[in-house]
Amino acid sequence: MALRADRQGPHRVAFEKNKRVLLKTHNTCGICGKPIDKTLKAPHPLSPVVDHIVPINKGGHPSSIENLQLAHWTCNRQKSDKLYSVKDEAPKVVGNRNLPQSTDWASYGG
Ligand SMILES: [Zn+2]
Repeated sequence: MALRADRQGPHRVAFEKNKRVLLKTHNTCGICGKPIDKTLKAPHPLSPVVDHIVPINKGGHPSSIENLQLAHWTCNRQKSDKLYSVKDEAPKVVGNRNLPQSTDWASYGG
């Protein structure tokens, strides 16, 4: 089952629950290892966000706590920028809808 949305159905419920657990039990960023000030709110760069350790589009679980970690907003952002810049060698002018041919879309939708 390759459900990739973490914002709908059972995954959303589990994600929200695990987010609360992480906020309660973790104080540091899973990416840079530094403390997180939980009083900060997005879009503050150092506000807490829940990061998918393995991104959903790389096969990571959308809502399992084993695939979630607390991270700084900015660290999470840099992580995804890095993931996409490594993979995406196409020029930036490519429109959002032009998905790279290199991606194995056939493996989605299971
Ligand atoms: Zn961080």
